[in-house]
Amino acid sequence: MPEPKHFKNYIGGAWVEAAGGERYENRNPADTEDLVSTQPSSDGRDVDAAVAAAREAFEGWRLVPAPERGLLIMKAAEILKARKEEISQMMTREMGKVIAETRGDTQEAIDCGMYAAGEGRRLFGRHTPVEMRNKFGMAIRRPVGVCGMITPWNFPIAIPSWKMFPALICGNTCVIKPATLTPASVANFMEVFEEAGFPPGVVNMVTGGGSSVGKAIIEHPDVNRVSFTGSVEIGNMLAGQCGALGKPFSAELGGKNAQIVMDDANLPLALDGVLWGAFGTTGQRCTATSRLILHEKIHDGFVEKLVARAKKLKVGNGLDESVDMGPAVSEDQLKTDLYYIEVGQKEDKAELVLGGKRLTGGAYDKGFFIEPTIFTGVKPGMRLEQEEIFGPVLSVIKVGSFEEAIRVQNDTAFGLSSSIYTENVNLAFKAIQDIEAGITYINGPTIGAEVHLPFGGVKGTGNGHREASWTVLDFYTEWKSVYVEFSGKLQRAQIDNQ
Ligand code: NAD
Repeated sequence: MPEPKHFKNYIGGAWVEAAGGERYENRNPADTEDLVSTQPSSDGRDVDAAVAAAREAFEGWRLVPAPERGLLIMKAAEILKARKEEISQMMTREMGKVIAETRGDTQEAIDCGMYAAGEGRRLFGRHTPVEMRNKFGMAIRRPVGVCGMITPWNFPIAIPSWKMFPALICGNTCVIKPATLTPASVANFMEVFEEAGFPPGVVNMVTGGGSSVGKAIIEHPDVNRVSFTGSVEIGNMLAGQCGALGKPFSAELGGKNAQIVMDDANLPLALDGVLWGAFGTTGQRCTATSRLILHEKIHDGFVEKLVARAKKLKVGNGLDESVDMGPAVSEDQLKTDLYYIEVGQKEDKAELVLGGKRLTGGAYDKGFFIEPTIFTGVKPGMRLEQEEIFGPVLSVIKVGSFEEAIRVQNDTAFGLSSSIYTENVNLAFKAIQDIEAGITYINGPTIGAEVHLPFGGVKGTGNGHREASWTVLDFYTEWKSVYVEFSGKLQRAQIDNQ
């Protein structure tokens, strides 16, 4: 078994123990005998120190030309690339998803860094004509200051990178609190920043609990804005707190994503799509396919093939390259999955056609493994169909028409990702037009976002912001309008020119 990583908080360019001196353990959900790391259990005092370092560093960092900031970010991306395998291996040990997927997670951070580095030579503002002669008008972006980042465990390095790289290219400094379950991946990320030569205080990490470290970041008067990805419950609570403090807050929350399969679809392709969408990352993606909406004409045959394929998925330790699905991230998540499976059977009275049980015996006893699970006979409005489970539990809903499929797809509190399989170009475009979601895939599964397109959702999935792409720059900058008078006289807009 590899040696555990023992690390400290990263504050002001140094690795420091938490003020309270407490530490906690981080264990592998596939094998709880495997201690992945130990790290500080921090509190508000550590956040104070990190914010002070970030505030001090901001004064220098904001003045570094953006292309130069971009070069440092590019260097960080290259170091991530060189360390990709080692970082991905630790990520699989830390949160369980299979190694091919943690390599993808690290790759997303590399891509995000390369994209953000290029932005250093854009960060476009606007020039526009003004009303008066010999006068110039433009709008420029300014950094906002110290940005707080609070992140979940399911994309341990990709999500921190989506937040930090854009914030940094814009000239901000950062204080990140990783999810309690995945601190080691973010510690690796800090090492990358350190090796790349980022000035002390530009990036800072404080590990520990949400109600201690997270709360302190939200409430700190010197944290100018906070970017959060996580559950609806916590996200909405924090949005209220930030609202009361007048602090801009970006929330990326839950999903209840559906894949629609029409009767004219390429069915083998749709089958590959749903297997990947529903059971990849053990169903623990915000964009995971948790609902499958099938046209009645293909329903029975499709379900039969789906169950046969899902039955063959190999569940196990994600470090084994032949494994298709890793464990649930924690005992709590496993309990949530099993709870919803019981709700599906007893309350919703849907038909359990595959799985439904915790896997036990042999190596399974050391971790939190669960069978890929499929319910059929799920009706719109059932709890299985409405509530986010965040596990490998797929609900199949039968519909009679395209219109009904869209109605079912849209009838949830969320709107993150969506997908439709059809060979009919008219239906594909109608779906793009009518589906209420931040992302729609045509003939692809609900997962697979790229870093240079806006990422986020509508309705309960968020609060209107988008991550990734050029759109995230609006969260990490403030616009300043600039008027330059070169007429040598007082010119009064809206008065002298009327
Ligand atoms: P979570 O809400 O439990 O935790 C997210 C983060 O908030 C963690 O770092 C946690 O420590 C912190 N936190 C908890 N209580 C806090 C408090 N009182 N004050 C401040 N911070 C606090 O979510 P999770 O279990 O880590 O992640 C799973 C959830 O994340 C799912 O609902 C999933 O849909 C969502 N998610 C959304 C996206 C997206 O982009 N829309 C992406 C990934 C995950």
